[in-house]
Amino acid sequence: MSEEKHYCEEPIWESNWPRAHPCGKTAKHFENGRWFCGIHCEEAKLRRSEKSQARIAASRVQWDKDRAAAAETQRRADMFDQLVEAIEEVVRLARWEVDNLGYAEDRNKVILTKAESALKAAKEGVKP
Ligand SMILES: [Zn+2]
Repeated sequence: MSEEKHYCEEPIWESNWPRAHPCGKTAKHFENGRWFCGIHCEEAKLRRSEKSQARIAASRVQWDKDRAAAAETQRRADMFDQLVEAIEEVVRLARWEVDNLGYAEDRNKVILTKAESALKAAKEGVKP
């Protein structure tokens, strides 16, 4: 007994053609009164849809991450000038004390020199 061969009935729309034609591949699944191949059966469609939903969800997560990172970069850039001004004030006071009061521990002189050089680099936009 030979089984009757069935062909996929999924309508395929070609971009330059006004009508759809059936897929025509060998059908394996009979669903809702029609035959479908392994590409156009409900299960395969569902699997593709789930995959694409997962891709969309993942790209949304990545988009949120990128946006948060960009916002953080902007926040830091906005803080930069204020930070430089504040540190400049502290360094100026510390330098004045070292130069005029004549006393500072060596350790603090080193810290001050480092701070002055970092501040200079920050204002010039280079790495210390
Ligand atoms: Zn098909």
